[in-house]
Amino acid sequence: MDNILPAYDDPLFSILIIIILILIVAVSSLIVGNYKEKKKKNSLEKFLCGFKKDNAVLNIEEMPFEKALIKPLSLLAQAFKTQGEYQKSINLNLYLIDNISNFFEKEKILEQLGETYLKAGFLKRSKLIYLEILNKHPRNKKALYYLGIVYELMHEFDKALETLTPLEILGEKTEKLQAHIELSKLLEQKKLSKAEKVSQLTALLQEKNYPYRRIMKALFTLDLNVAWENIENDRIGSILDILWFLPSLNLNFDIISNNETLSAIYLAKGSLETEELNKRSNIFSIDTIIASKIGNKTNVDLLFSYGCGKCKNHFPIGFTRCPKCYAIDAIQIKETLVQKQSQTSYSLL
Ligand SMILES: [Zn+2]
Repeated sequence: MDNILPAYDDPLFSILIIIILILIVAVSSLIVGNYKEKKKKNSLEKFLCGFKKDNAVLNIEEMPFEKALIKPLSLLAQAFKTQGEYQKSINLNLYLIDNISNFFEKEKILEQLGETYLKAGFLKRSKLIYLEILNKHPRNKKALYYLGIVYELMHEFDKALETLTPLEILGEKTEKLQAHIELSKLLEQKKLSKAEKVSQLTALLQEKNYPYRRIMKALFTLDLNVAWENIENDRIGSILDILWFLPSLNLNFDIISNNETLSAIYLAKGSLETEELNKRSNIFSIDTIIASKIGNKTNVDLLFSYGCGKCKNHFPIGFTRCPKCYAIDAIQIKETLVQKQSQTSYSLL
């Protein structure tokens, strides 16, 4: 034995000790690394387990998994999501996530699952999915963007604002998004007095990133005089429906009679009593109603619908975020001429 091991005062003994120490460190870091990886994987599996099997809509759990199934099944999940069959889409995504071990291979599927939960109205689940994605891949722009939407819909505006900083660092333009969330936060503020809110909203009318329509809609509910004073002629088209459905008592005839476009709108609506029927608004539907009035046809009314400038879908009611593609400031007001119904019209506010 003495012949195999060098003597402790031999320089070879120190080298041997160093080699043994290096080996111990290498082996222990390998074991710790494997343990951490396993723990991560278990945590994801445990996390997703809570979402599973709400309804066995698709009996796919027992289906043998093959890598070739990933693409067709994820396309099928996408198709189910588009058709509004959210539970089927969720089950397919969960099956895929279950069977793919590498996070980066299933990242896109997790994104799709988060979006499906969001569409289906499961905001908390959607939030957890996006937080889980960001836990493993903090630079995932899509997850950050959608997490912001989820927080906004949950009325957690400060947290929604927190998602903007990393998005900005990653090169995204966030000014409009910031204005959108800050405006939502301001409108929800319970502690502010009405006057303070009105003053802050009026100041925001001067800021270019803040949506005129949303501010004016809020002003018409908070302070009619301020709202009327802030009507901008070239932006009347974006609030035509709000103006059209205002109750007669809320109309400011001093301002209306001094503005040709407003006069034309309320002449067409029948709220403005005047003998002069020569008002023009340059809004096709309004001018058509006035022309028909001149021809003694008084039963023409307007029907409003709302389009999204981004995804081009149409909706019967207005929105601040497109219900389909979640775009902001994308609302387009569409008015159609219809025969007047003998029923009471209600204010949008
Ligand atoms: Zn849209």
